[in-house]
Amino acid sequence: PKYKTSEQVLSLMKDRTRVRNIGIIAHVDHGKTTTSDQLLAASGIISPKVAGEALALDYLSVEQQRGITVKAANVSLYHEVDGKGYVINLIDTPGHVDFSGRVTRSLRVLDGSIVVVDSVEGVMTQTETVLRQSLEERVRPILFINKVDRLVKELKLGPQEMMQKLLDIIKEVNNLINIYAEPELKEKWSINPSLGNVVFGSAKDRWGFSIPMAQKKGINMKHVIDAYSTTDKSKVNELAAQVPINEALLDAVIKFVPNPIEAQKYRIPKIWKGDLDNELAKSMLNADPNGPVVMMITDMKVDPHAGLVATGRVFSGTIRPGTEVWLVNAKAPQKVLQVSIYMGQFRELADEIPAGNIAAVLGLERARSGETLIDVRFKDLQGSFEKLHYVSEPVVTIAVEPKNPKDLTKMIDALRKLSIEDPNLVVKINEETGEYLLSGMGFLHLEVSLQLLKDNYGVDVVTTPPIVVYRESVRNKSQVFEGKSPNKHNKFYISVEPLNEKTIELISTGTIKEDMDSKEMAKILRDQADWDYDEAKKIIAIDENVNVFVDATSGVQHLREIMDTLLQGYRLAMREGPLAHEPIRGIKVVLHDAAIHEDPAHRGPAQIYPAVRNAIFAAFLMSRPTLLEPLQKLDIRVPMEFVGNVTAVLSRKRGKVLNMVQSGSVARVLAEIPVSESYELASDLRSTTGGRAFWGTEFSRWAPVPDSLLNDVVLKIRERKGLPKELPKVEDFLT
Ligand code: GDP
Repeated sequence: PKYKTSEQVLSLMKDRTRVRNIGIIAHVDHGKTTTSDQLLAASGIISPKVAGEALALDYLSVEQQRGITVKAANVSLYHEVDGKGYVINLIDTPGHVDFSGRVTRSLRVLDGSIVVVDSVEGVMTQTETVLRQSLEERVRPILFINKVDRLVKELKLGPQEMMQKLLDIIKEVNNLINIYAEPELKEKWSINPSLGNVVFGSAKDRWGFSIPMAQKKGINMKHVIDAYSTTDKSKVNELAAQVPINEALLDAVIKFVPNPIEAQKYRIPKIWKGDLDNELAKSMLNADPNGPVVMMITDMKVDPHAGLVATGRVFSGTIRPGTEVWLVNAKAPQKVLQVSIYMGQFRELADEIPAGNIAAVLGLERARSGETLIDVRFKDLQGSFEKLHYVSEPVVTIAVEPKNPKDLTKMIDALRKLSIEDPNLVVKINEETGEYLLSGMGFLHLEVSLQLLKDNYGVDVVTTPPIVVYRESVRNKSQVFEGKSPNKHNKFYISVEPLNEKTIELISTGTIKEDMDSKEMAKILRDQADWDYDEAKKIIAIDENVNVFVDATSGVQHLREIMDTLLQGYRLAMREGPLAHEPIRGIKVVLHDAAIHEDPAHRGPAQIYPAVRNAIFAAFLMSRPTLLEPLQKLDIRVPMEFVGNVTAVLSRKRGKVLNMVQSGSVARVLAEIPVSESYELASDLRSTTGGRAFWGTEFSRWAPVPDSLLNDVVLKIRERKGLPKELPKVEDFLT
């Protein structure tokens, strides 16, 4: 490649038609890391730090130097098409869906994605998940069918059969695009090999081509089969020289991924929550470098030398050292100290970074992933990027303490840093016991985090066995119950009932949210979730655990004055249910009537909170209360002869096989299993298959704990939390 220095790259970044922002997404093991390593190796940008040496080095050594040092980071690539130079910002999207909050977050700043699919395995669950997320964010996919060498070496397919196999994968991907892309984008974004938006190749062997590229260079599948039909590696290397993978992929990216000016026109209306007519939004719609600064932070890293590094996309304006920004979530002003661009694992200082690009910013100590920065002069214009919706939730908790008590401060500091870098890792202190609690997406997530704690911070910890988090919910509709305040002067009349699945889905996906227009909300709920329009219009609160509060009263005196206190009481009640003090999920709380004392002195929080809680809990206990447990999705590949062993392990762990497909001698088993049963799953699967099973996991859904186990589980949680053995009774809340 032609090498460019960071100065040349920065000047290109100012011409926004020459910029592309992309990420690589894939099912685990399909070749995401190998593909990004290949792109990095041929990035065509060198840091001044190595520029001097680079002159003396030949191409290969520079490549090797990068290949070993650069592991999946954010990086800017330089690539030429028809003599024109382009900058491609490649943003790291983490591969593992067990903690996929980060996938969603990084998609937010991309305009295009390279979807990598293993040619032998085809489309798998995580392919579908990441592709769906990509399309929901209006990020345009191009397809890379990887490991084509396996079709020759392992499956021994001829050219005809190979084409058929590849076309089947394209068909499957198009099918998903057809399902998940918005109607107006479906056609335009579907994959068409003859146009060049699909690349076939082998990342490991460094070759790849699109159909137009193959035609231009006189290459076809026969050449591929030839190259792998000898043990001599030279033919494969020839192929890599003729059709290098980076050229194939980056050509496709430049041609099919829109530049930031084009992309922000249709992406901003989707991701920006707030007025589209104000100055911030208008400037973002045009990716205007002269407008007010708006930036979304997707990633926070703790750099031992530089402090906190915030990385994200500048959607409007130009960010410089000294720029004063308002942090919308943290509600605080801060000043930018330094800005830089990524060059492999290095950051290179820059004077300024204009809209449409990815920047690393120093000085924002109060920022966290997902933060929106706006020019401080525009802070009253309000608005932020739409809240991100994670597919996973933290469902497993452990208590940690340092092996060496002297390490306590070190551990606390390290935990703080870890949770800054990984927002899906939640650190809390148990106020009563003083324990440090660490919550994650699954056992594996916590295991990885503990490893990081040890490797990066030198802290060894001892932990309690993992605790699975539950939710409380109800299965029937209750009558109306009266809840009184301790002074008996305030009364609320409340009923509860389960929300239907569709409502829960609309809320969890963010289609329905508390601060939207109530008529719009009511329309959606009526049309899609069987709600009565008038009742839906009276929803006045939706809390983080997917419960809604409906105010069905009319003409109650003083209700308005205490409404904030009332809703705070409702939220507190939702946080710790009556069964086992676990959060309540998926219920509708309806306020039918109320009586409120006229004197504010008699209707403070100390009166209102218990009154609301009493009414809600009495109703709750009378509507078939239950616990919900987190279920995990499993996608297992295993040789046919071990399928019986695998299903036996699953059924011992209350797992359910959802689907099973056979391809050749390998079976793919899709299953669901309670997280609480998954603790030793890995070692059990390994030992029962002699290490021949491979699998991925992701959060699936919340489901009721089977009736036969309910009592036991509730009692265990109560015991662990030091709650009385006896469950509360309705009467406890009616006095
Ligand atoms: P990731 O989990 O998606 O990041 O996948 P990796 O890039 O780590 O690749 C997973 C495995 O597939 C590794 O053992 C790679 O060496 C291998 N691999 C990657 N690309 C190819 C390829 O083109 N052909 C073959 N046969 N193996 C590949």
